[in-house]
Amino acid sequence: MRTRILVLGSNFAGITAAIEAKHKLGDDADVTVVSPSDQFVFNPSLIWLPFGKRDRADLTFDVAPTYEHAGVEFVHRAATRIDPDRRLVTLDDGTTRAYDYLVIATGYRNNDDVVPGFRENATTITTVDEAERAGRAWRRFLDEPGDVVVAATQGAGCFGAAYEFLFNTSYQLRKAGLHKDVKLTYVTAEPFLGHFGIGGLPHGEQLLGMFLKKEGIETRLSIGIDHVDDGALGLADGSTVPFSYAMVVPPFLGQDFLHDTPGLVDEKGYVQVRPTYQTQKWDDVYAIGVAAAVDVPWQTPTPVGIPKTGFPTEQMAHTAVANIVAQVKGEAPDAEKAFGDIPAVCVMDAGNNGVIILADKMLPPRKHGLLIPGPQAHLMKLGFEKYYLWKMRHGHVTLP
Ligand SMILES: Cc1cc2nc3c(=O)[nH]c(=O)nc-3n(C[C@H](O)[C@H](O)[C@H](O)COP(=O)(O)OP(=O)(O)OC[C@H]3O[C@@H](n4cnc5c(N)ncnc54)[C@H](O)[C@@H]3O)c2cc1C
Repeated sequence: MRTRILVLGSNFAGITAAIEAKHKLGDDADVTVVSPSDQFVFNPSLIWLPFGKRDRADLTFDVAPTYEHAGVEFVHRAATRIDPDRRLVTLDDGTTRAYDYLVIATGYRNNDDVVPGFRENATTITTVDEAERAGRAWRRFLDEPGDVVVAATQGAGCFGAAYEFLFNTSYQLRKAGLHKDVKLTYVTAEPFLGHFGIGGLPHGEQLLGMFLKKEGIETRLSIGIDHVDDGALGLADGSTVPFSYAMVVPPFLGQDFLHDTPGLVDEKGYVQVRPTYQTQKWDDVYAIGVAAAVDVPWQTPTPVGIPKTGFPTEQMAHTAVANIVAQVKGEAPDAEKAFGDIPAVCVMDAGNNGVIILADKMLPPRKHGLLIPGPQAHLMKLGFEKYYLWKMRHGHVTLP
């Protein structure tokens, strides 16, 4: 009998794991992907969507043909329950799917309840729908400009996107001739500029400080948000930051249904894993990408989350697949790649400029860390977007 591999989720982590497993196991395995979305979303381009530089079609593609070509079954449904003891997953139409190996790649959802008023009074860019809403608000803002705030709340982990949006906002304000009249403020839980939720990188604080100064951006560091009113951010120290336009990055959580399986997830809904990406309790259940829990190795005065970006997500998928293949062949699943030891590779875009971020490890202690500023970073992000969408659409998931 062929091994049944079931993958929940179909974005960076899910596509990579499913297609790589099928490549490696061929006719020895039936691979099935379950996802409530039949679109791949290239989230790194969401920072451009509100400014009209991209639309939905530019940063998404239909996953069904990709899976068909790769010989992977695609089920356009949401998983609603996992029963690891019976090796069964229930879907939202009430049907069940049996598996021999399960890969949980269900990613994140916004914690909309992070502070009162967030959902009603701020915009965000963490999903395509939200970024479109942020775009409608931006167009209204251009008709009636005022102050702008870009913020990352306590517990947020996606600081890179907040910085990118901040610098792109500054660039757009300049283009619209509004730069001198609009006060732009960055509010962040990070203890210092350029912490990024990964403890910072050499000279990052100075570099970002310089960028912010050059752009005339005011900063409120190491501070939580208490609430969002219509037109003002209420901060934890009782001060307020008025705005006509606000983009706020909230913390992420794992998917709700995972809480229904005892012993699977932590309080945030992230699946607790070993360095093999097997779950703590079950050898045949894996979790990868944003869905996997990562220990935060520090305490900051205002809590910050860890960014689980695309590169480590892919590395987790490759590691999990190597282990599943080993198990199918009767070997020990001994491939390991702890999140903190995965290299950091990222580009932070700033409109027509940017910073390339490289480090030998996601988390300290590190031997090397490098930030390379300049317009080549912007060009690199443009090239990477095209390359990555091509690579995923055509199922070339093992390419770098
Ligand atoms: C605004 C923004 C900008 C970013 N910029 C960058 C960047 O510049 N560089 C970078 O490296 N990373 C960036 N990231 C991070 C990157 O997007 C993540 O690393 C990546 O999305 C993680 O992929 P994932 O597959 O783990 O999770 P997700 O992308 O969250 O995908 C989860 C998948 O699970 C599916 N799913 C959800 N619920 C269920 C269910 N019940 N059953 C089955 N399937 C389900 C979803 O439909 C989706 O297909 C950015 C993220 C954001 C939000």
